[in-house]
Amino acid sequence: IRRNAGETEFHQAAREVLESLGRVIAKHPEFTDGALIERICEPERQIIFRVPWTDDKGQVQVNRGFRVQFNSALGPYKGGMRFHPSVNVGIIKFLGFEQVFKNALTGLPIGGGKGGADFDPKGRSDAEVMRFCQSFMTEMFRHLGEYTDVPAGDIGVGGREIGYLFGQYKRLTNRYEAGVFTGKGLFYGGSRARTEATGYGNTYFVQRMLQTKGTSFDGKRCVVSGSGNVAIYSIEKILSFGGKVVACSDSSGYIVDENGIDLELLKEIKEVRRQRISEYARLKGNGTHFIKGGSIWDVPCDVAMPSATQNELSGKDARALIKNGVIAVGEGANMPSTPEAIHAFQDAGVLFAPGKAANAGGVATSALEMQQNASRDSWSFEKTETRLAEIMHNIHDLCANTADEFGVPGNYVLGANIASFVRVAETMRSFGVI
Ligand code: NDP
Repeated sequence: IRRNAGETEFHQAAREVLESLGRVIAKHPEFTDGALIERICEPERQIIFRVPWTDDKGQVQVNRGFRVQFNSALGPYKGGMRFHPSVNVGIIKFLGFEQVFKNALTGLPIGGGKGGADFDPKGRSDAEVMRFCQSFMTEMFRHLGEYTDVPAGDIGVGGREIGYLFGQYKRLTNRYEAGVFTGKGLFYGGSRARTEATGYGNTYFVQRMLQTKGTSFDGKRCVVSGSGNVAIYSIEKILSFGGKVVACSDSSGYIVDENGIDLELLKEIKEVRRQRISEYARLKGNGTHFIKGGSIWDVPCDVAMPSATQNELSGKDARALIKNGVIAVGEGANMPSTPEAIHAFQDAGVLFAPGKAANAGGVATSALEMQQNASRDSWSFEKTETRLAEIMHNIHDLCANTADEFGVPGNYVLGANIASFVRVAETMRSFGVI
């Protein structure tokens, strides 16, 4: 803790994994040899840099850029870039640490990393976002490469930003290296179904989890927090599975639509017009409410899918959900539930899918994008989605079977942490002390 002072979120993520390892260390004491666990907790490399750029008024702004190249045992560093004012080294390290284990669960050849900047794209013009992305990449490009480090999007980094970042990389390197970035546009090497992958993947995972209890999304009342990439495509897939989504949110508050969220309207507001969620209630009227601030988790539901940001679901929120009869929780975001919330769900027997397993569909489809780029190929939507569904089912079964094997049936948190740790630890052992 002293060594990583002030990195609260990183401590939280590391503690959760380390606390899960007692059973596996008892069975495999060799995993503590050679300071293996200490090495797993230490990033291979951290890059922090200045990002100067000029705003539309001609004023120079200075942001801070980050890339934490956490672990490359299983493949090149892979993980998104986040642009949000809350970004600091502790946040990027927690995300990078989670990413190492998430990527291991996919079974695909990808290591873990994460990056971003404390830049706030909200209210910025397209030209400002472009200048910021170009300045960011002017430092970042030298650390990337399809065999080295392959970023993607995250909060505040979607198709527009990836276009500007990839364009600048291409210009600086004079190489059309499609495999250096994922989440690209379809005209320049992107994969079909990548946009949908994280939300769809989480929904596939929860569907499989519900099946273990002989039920499904059909007819279920659902609440999805956030209204960004992960939230929108979770809602889309839940609807296709026969569920009804009654609430979603952004950082200003949440909306409740008892008729079920109108997905087309939500996409228009968020993806096209880039407006606030309150606009949904204003346009829809008719029994739809916008609640400023407050907690979306007070809305009763059968299935909750936190898909906004870390620590957005507290112990108190978990108790409200349990009281209202929630049966399953699928984490679309990274570490959205606090440790207190996770314990409350587990104690109450609620099916709980941790983010590192449930939201792995995004990075898995990114790895499929890398495969397509490497073979100069482009797969159909159906083929890509079929692979995604298969991968999510495999991750579900791996977590469930590992939990059974270690004597904690139904504990997906332990299952995910142990299964992924074993893959990374075994590989690092075979490389010796590096
Ligand atoms: P987006 O930027 O598309 O959307 C984020 C959503 O969450 C927005 O509605 C945003 O509201 C809300 N939000 C962000 N920060 C806060 C906050 N501090 N308080 C309340 N609401 C907030 O990001 P994504 O959908 O891509 O990412 C959402 C989560 O999913 C993140 O945890 C991310 O790490 C995780 N994830 C994303 C993957 C992907 O493929 N995109 C893959 C795996 C995980 P507002 O607009 O008001 O800020």
